[in-house]
Amino acid sequence: MAKPIIPSEIVQALELLKQIPGIGDRTSTRLFYNLFKLPKNQRLEIIKNLARAVNNLSPCKECFILTNKEVCDICSSPERTKKIITVVEESSDAYTIERLGKYKGVYHILEGRISPLEGVGPENLTIEKLLQRVEKYLPEEVILATNPNTEGEATAAYIGKLLKKKFPQLKITRIGLGAAFGTYLELLEENTLNEAFSSRKDWES
Ligand SMILES: [Zn+2]
Repeated sequence: MAKPIIPSEIVQALELLKQIPGIGDRTSTRLFYNLFKLPKNQRLEIIKNLARAVNNLSPCKECFILTNKEVCDICSSPERTKKIITVVEESSDAYTIERLGKYKGVYHILEGRISPLEGVGPENLTIEKLLQRVEKYLPEEVILATNPNTEGEATAAYIGKLLKKKFPQLKITRIGLGAAFGTYLELLEENTLNEAFSSRKDWES
């Protein structure tokens, strides 16, 4: 058998990178080869940092945000109220909202969105845990802040309906979408994101 020409390290690295959801051939190839455009010490620094993040971070026991503690700083802060829960798709969305420095409630991270195309159903998200938290904390408001796009909208609709059925008295709101429809929270400008929150409306099925 002919000896393979491509070094096994490359073949393996590309295969491993492709295990990350949303990373295909093109992205994994670019990530990997572009890494080698950096000096070796910088390359190693990146990998060391990633290893540390992978080792230290896990979902918060309460809200599922990626954190380096068992219960995250937001959930455990006495300055944050559990009377408002903002539901987002990913940790990055919550940290995007945190950058505005205005929100005083807590979050609930779904760990994704309902996406039949990607084989993600409601049972793959942390919806059950959200219902438990609502039951436990009896919040005054649940803000549905999934992404302002088709999948985010469908996910918000599913959760809104479920919450309304189980907790008819609960105030459920959806962030204002306006002209921003078809995008992602993390891509919104600061003032657009502020606007999306301040113009949130009662969710109706
Ligand atoms: Zn938390």
